This record gives sequence, structure tokens and C-alpha cells, in this order.
Amino acid sequence: MSFTADLHLHSRYAYACSKNLTLANIAAWAKIKGIDLLSTADFTHPAWLAELEGNLTQTAEGDFEFDGVRFVLGTELSCVYKQGGRSRRVHLLVFAPDLESVRGIREMLSGLNAKLNGDGRPTIGVSARDLTARLLDINADCLVVPAHIWTPWYGMLGSKSGFDSLDECFEDMTPHIPAVETGLSSDPEMNWRVPALAGKSIVSFSDAHSLPNLGRELTEFSGTPGYQDLAAGLNENRVERTIEFFPEEGKYHLNGHRKCGVSQSPDETTQAGTRCPECGRPLTLGVLHRVRDLSGDGQTVDEAARRPYDRLVPLVELLSQTLGKGRATKSVATAYHHICSELGGEIQVLTEAPFDDLERVGGQALAVAVTKVRAGQVEMVPGFDGQYGTVRPAD
Ligand SMILES: [Zn+2]
Ligand SMILES: [Zn+2]
Repeated sequence: MSFTADLHLHSRYAYACSKNLTLANIAAWAKIKGIDLLSTADFTHPAWLAELEGNLTQTAEGDFEFDGVRFVLGTELSCVYKQGGRSRRVHLLVFAPDLESVRGIREMLSGLNAKLNGDGRPTIGVSARDLTARLLDINADCLVVPAHIWTPWYGMLGSKSGFDSLDECFEDMTPHIPAVETGLSSDPEMNWRVPALAGKSIVSFSDAHSLPNLGRELTEFSGTPGYQDLAAGLNENRVERTIEFFPEEGKYHLNGHRKCGVSQSPDETTQAGTRCPECGRPLTLGVLHRVRDLSGDGQTVDEAARRPYDRLVPLVELLSQTLGKGRATKSVATAYHHICSELGGEIQVLTEAPFDDLERVGGQALAVAVTKVRAGQVEMVPGFDGQYGTVRPAD
């Protein structure tokens, strides 16, 4: 048995997130996508927590359900602090085993002067190490997973305000960090090259700020959807597979300066220097560059710890390309919902549905596109400095 989980998303109470991110809409979209377990997100926000407590049904300690969709208590916290004379910004995914722990976490954060009724992803002025220690003090079964570890800002290993290793960031708490989230701009293969990540499970989630982005990256764990098997999945690397973007599609894959339209590979930057050739400002060093800097000399993560992964292009993008219509058009939306409901959800459509079914329900062009993406036959323009890349099936 296994289950798909999206454990990094946000509610409508997080900044820069869609007002449509209500519990009912999130659950409805989980079904469209075919996601078995979701994070509640944003559990420190008083209004959102009240909605969660008023609407979720507890099925076991720490396990919840809404309209047939399973939830665990999770949130993202933003640590902003100084260490080693540099300013650091690290986002952490935090999961709590029960509501009592959530109350304890909220009290602890209030005691640190965190503003909990603003952003659903509150900022705290303590180190990632200290926050982890405090969370585990409240309940040793809390889970702490550094979020989108490679993003230049807010990633634990990011080029702008991160660290060079897990140890440097978490010190004595490092053994209590079970896993890391790769983020959109990196895939497991890239992470396997980094010795500092050895022994940690590698997971992928959507970081959705709007409903259609739910489940755009996912992790499949063994067991049944709930806190216990999530904890075992993270702690013991019971990851069956991850479902990923092509990392080139992420916003920070290559180096560059968006305003000047300058994009460079790590080799080009190494030769030409880290300033924009057009305007002289510092380039934003992307994930590929950073991974290369932190890679061992040919050393890689133990083969036994590696898990399979699939690289996908969202169905809405494939439909937009095959129908020749914009992503936000009615024709794309109608086709999307029809195909998902006929074939068992978007994840099933993209990863498992047979060619004949895809052709019958979505037409030949779509069946060919999905098959090409599964085989890695794609053309890509990599993202850089906050600009998404594009990936499309090769002609
Ligand atoms: Zn974040
Ligand atoms: Zn420039």
C-alpha cells in the first residue's frame, strides 16, 4: 500500500496566496488531482485554525478528514536571523502530531513575538536550530523538514541567505531533521550529488499558492495516509517515489539577471564572473550552480537511499499547447476537468494512464504529448532569476 502526499501548500491566509484556498476548495482539488494526504497548512493563523477545528473530523490522534480527503497538521515557518555575521533566511515545514502540540507551538511562537494573525507563514527571529529544539521540546514527535532547500532566498542551502551544509544550519539538531524538500528547481538526481544531504529522505511538494498548483510536485510514501506513516516515511525513508517538475522549469534553475534577460550556465558564470554583463549588478546564482558548488568530487549519496522519480509537465500546460489556447481559457479548463474525472485524476493521467485511454478521452495530440513527456522527450528553456522556464514535448 502507498499514498500520495502534498505537504507544502498554503491557505488563503498566507501572503500572496489565492483567496480561493478554502478547505472545501482544497479538498475538491485534491480529488481532481488524485492526492491522498494533504497538509492543513498555516495552522498558526488563528482564523484558519478556527476553520480547521470547526470543519475537520478527527479520525485518529493527529489524523483528520474533510469530505473524504485526509489531512495532517502542518505549516511553514520562516526563520530570519543572523549567524556567522551573515543574515539568514530559512523556511521550515513543520508537522504536529496533535492539536495540543499545535496550541503549544502557537504559544511558543507568541512568546517569541511572532505575529500569528498576519501571514499564515509567520516570520520568527530565531535560528532554524533553536526553533527545531523548541518544537521538539513541545512534542518529540513533531517533524521538521527544511523547505525548498535550494531557492536563493529562504532556502536552507540557498545562495543568498542559506548555509553550506545541514550541520552548519542545524548543528546538534541535525540528526533530528529527517528529510529535505527539493523545491521546483532541483530534482533528486541533483540532490544525490551533495554529500551534506546523505542520510536524509528527499521529498517534493507543490508549495501551491493557488488551487490548480496543488500536487504539481508530490511524494508517494508506503503505508496508509496519516501522521504515523508520514513520520515513518520521513524518518525511515519509506519514500516510494517522488513526482517532480523538470528542474529546468523552476524559477531559479540557471544563473541570471531577469531585468536584463541574461541567463547563464554555471560554466559560463565561472568563466565570465558573477556580475551581469549588461548592467554590472550581481547575478542571481541559481540552483544548478549552487548544487555544483556543494557537490563532492564525484561522491554521491548511497545508491540504496535513492528513490525513483517521475518528471512531469502539468496537464494544463500540455492541453494549452496541444489545443493552441491559453492556460486560463475555458476550453483548456473544460478539457482538463473532463480528462481528470474520466481517467482517475491528473496524477494518474500524467503517470499511468494507457495511451489508448488518453487518446479516447483527450485526443491523439494529448496522448502523444503525455507519452513524450514520460519518456523525457522534451524541449526546454531553463528558468532563471525568478522567471519560470518552459518545457514542452519535443516536435
Ligand atoms: Zn517557503
Ligand atoms: Zn543586468
